[in-house]
Amino acid sequence: MSAGSRWRRNVVAAVVGLVVLLAPAASVGVVGGGAPFVAGASGAGDPYFPFAGNGGYDVQHYDLDVTYTPPAPAPAPLTGRLDGVATLRLRATQNLDRFNLDLRGMEVDRVLVDGGQARKVPPPSDGETVEGRAYWQVQDDAARTWELTIQPRPSIKAGRVVRVVVRYHGDTTRPRDIEGVLYGWVTTRDGAMVVSEPEGSMTWYPVSDHPTDKATYRFEITVPEGKVAVANGLPARKPTTRQGWTTWYWRAPDLQASYLTTASVGDYELRRSETPAGLPIIDAVDDGVTPANLATTNASLALQAEMIGFLDQFGHYPFNSAGAIVDDDSVGYALETQTRPVYSRVASEGTVMHELAHQWFGNAVSPYRWADIWLNEGWATYAEWIWSEEQGRDTAQQQFDAVMAIPADDPFWDTVVADPGPLGLFLGPIYDRGAATLYALRTKIGDAAFLAGARRWVARYDDGTARTADFEALFERVSGQDLDEFFDVWLHTPEKPTAW
Ligand SMILES: [Zn+2]
Repeated sequence: MSAGSRWRRNVVAAVVGLVVLLAPAASVGVVGGGAPFVAGASGAGDPYFPFAGNGGYDVQHYDLDVTYTPPAPAPAPLTGRLDGVATLRLRATQNLDRFNLDLRGMEVDRVLVDGGQARKVPPPSDGETVEGRAYWQVQDDAARTWELTIQPRPSIKAGRVVRVVVRYHGDTTRPRDIEGVLYGWVTTRDGAMVVSEPEGSMTWYPVSDHPTDKATYRFEITVPEGKVAVANGLPARKPTTRQGWTTWYWRAPDLQASYLTTASVGDYELRRSETPAGLPIIDAVDDGVTPANLATTNASLALQAEMIGFLDQFGHYPFNSAGAIVDDDSVGYALETQTRPVYSRVASEGTVMHELAHQWFGNAVSPYRWADIWLNEGWATYAEWIWSEEQGRDTAQQQFDAVMAIPADDPFWDTVVADPGPLGLFLGPIYDRGAATLYALRTKIGDAAFLAGARRWVARYDDGTARTADFEALFERVSGQDLDEFFDVWLHTPEKPTAW
């Protein structure tokens, strides 16, 4: 994610403080031979977002078939309508009596598990048992808990793969994250901007909404004829039109964290090109982008192939395609949705470099916990620094010096970069002190060890997640140095570093 209004809101975030919710413990259900069948946890175990993601299974693949009706022209309300059928292939990682999916603001109409239909029941109270194959929903905005619970029958043995179909519908609005910032399926006048970091994908499909459960995706997005729907990856086939509705088909066969899915809808012009190495680039630019913004955007997007070549120093581009979605509306920031970042109103050169760098740092290697967000934003900001130097503008050293010119008593230095709290994910220091940490590390261990470490980081954790402790251990190994004090000063201490 990049700039806009996000990282200038540090004062508000600091005042509001932490919100910590406790996820309920898993409860024991039917006991068979061997390990008992128990309920999967209602969260992935991330202390910042206790109900995001789920336990007891691993989603391998999502097939998302959604029909979207955008809002009517103004002054009609800015509300759309979504009708979806999600087909998930998931593998039980324990003997499962029941399991949860995350789904916010959508009503479930039908659930099938391996073809067997579940009946809808009210949420049972604690200790109350439910007979047979069933499902229920809890939608608690105050507790930020949005769960669909499915009780399969027969229960699912550990290791088994099942096919779960969820049919659902709902009005789409403009959802907000824990900080009050727009995210998820953000309804726009001419379509939708779909940007879901950290746990906004649950606003438009049933999902295990945490980066630790990556999966592959296919999309069938049906919109009124004339609208264009753009998702991750590559077109699976040509769009088809029937009775005034056009269906767009996309496939994303590379493992993907849920917050990086998009299915944005607008009056887009699609442009196809490729890098010298043959990587397909698909850009979608809204016809409502202003002429001045369009000139900036076109100049930046024309650099994508060169930028991807520059970033090859960290390893080959990790996915099957690249590109951009530039919408004429704004959520206040850009997001590195996998293969195809979403930009608000304009794509500036620095932001395009930032979101492209995330394809390696954030998308190929994702945070294990949201506390590890600096590993996304620090690297992406560092990439902006070295690209600027490469282009003959400010050097990385000059940008490091600018960060270090911030006075020691400035609140900028009060953030613990490796544990900023759920309201601190997108504070300025996550970006700038994060990048400064990487630059200081490079200066300390030398260019060769630093680059070798960066490459090993991507190769080692590609398609998965990693945490700050993994980062520290890897760079100690690669440099042969004890870096405990260095990391303590830079990442774990809410003070300006003076010696390291
Ligand atoms: Zn970013």
